[in-house]
Amino acid sequence: MLAKGLQLTLAIIKPHVVCQPVALQDIRRMILAADFKVVRSERKRLSLPDAERFYSEHEGKFFYNRLTTFMTSGPIDLYILARRDGIKEWRKLMGPTKVFRTQFFEPETIRGKFGLSDTRNATHGSDSDESAKKEIGLFFPRFDFEGWHRDEEIHYRDEANLILDEEEFVHTIADNNNA
Ligand code: GDP
Repeated sequence: MLAKGLQLTLAIIKPHVVCQPVALQDIRRMILAADFKVVRSERKRLSLPDAERFYSEHEGKFFYNRLTTFMTSGPIDLYILARRDGIKEWRKLMGPTKVFRTQFFEPETIRGKFGLSDTRNATHGSDSDESAKKEIGLFFPRFDFEGWHRDEEIHYRDEANLILDEEEFVHTIADNNNA
């Protein structure tokens, strides 16, 4: 269904990046340079129950406590990103999960540049359409996933239809009727 159109994904910028404005700006530049459109943007401090719910599939693993504690240690940025092949392309831009390998083999990726450890690996990205829809629903409960594809996706295909609010880091659809 979405093969030719834009695909949505949830990106999270983890706390150790959000508290470093220069690193955050660099990552935002990388997102725009890779032709992602930012459909929604929000800064949020996760509660522990939020983090535990989000990472519930990892419950019981050795890194679960340190991951959920880290994710609640400061504000995170949440972006709904749109691009052709958005899920795959965002994961490609992030680079692999394991930072020390990534720093060596893919140093130009976001995790290669800004990851500090496997836990503090800078970013998150959805891994399928199903998880993107679920994750977007968790953090943006009022976002209408199907409605966006039906009514707005077409506008986000062309940069000329969009206005970027650099401070809020979000693209909105220009009202060309007033031009
Ligand atoms: P992702 O989709 O690339 O984020 O990877 P996963 O879904 O497998 O893991 C979720 C998050 O758990 C990762 O982004 C890491 O922060 C963390 N994580 C995964 N594997 C490890 C690990 O072996 N050690 C540590 N410390 N954290 C891990």
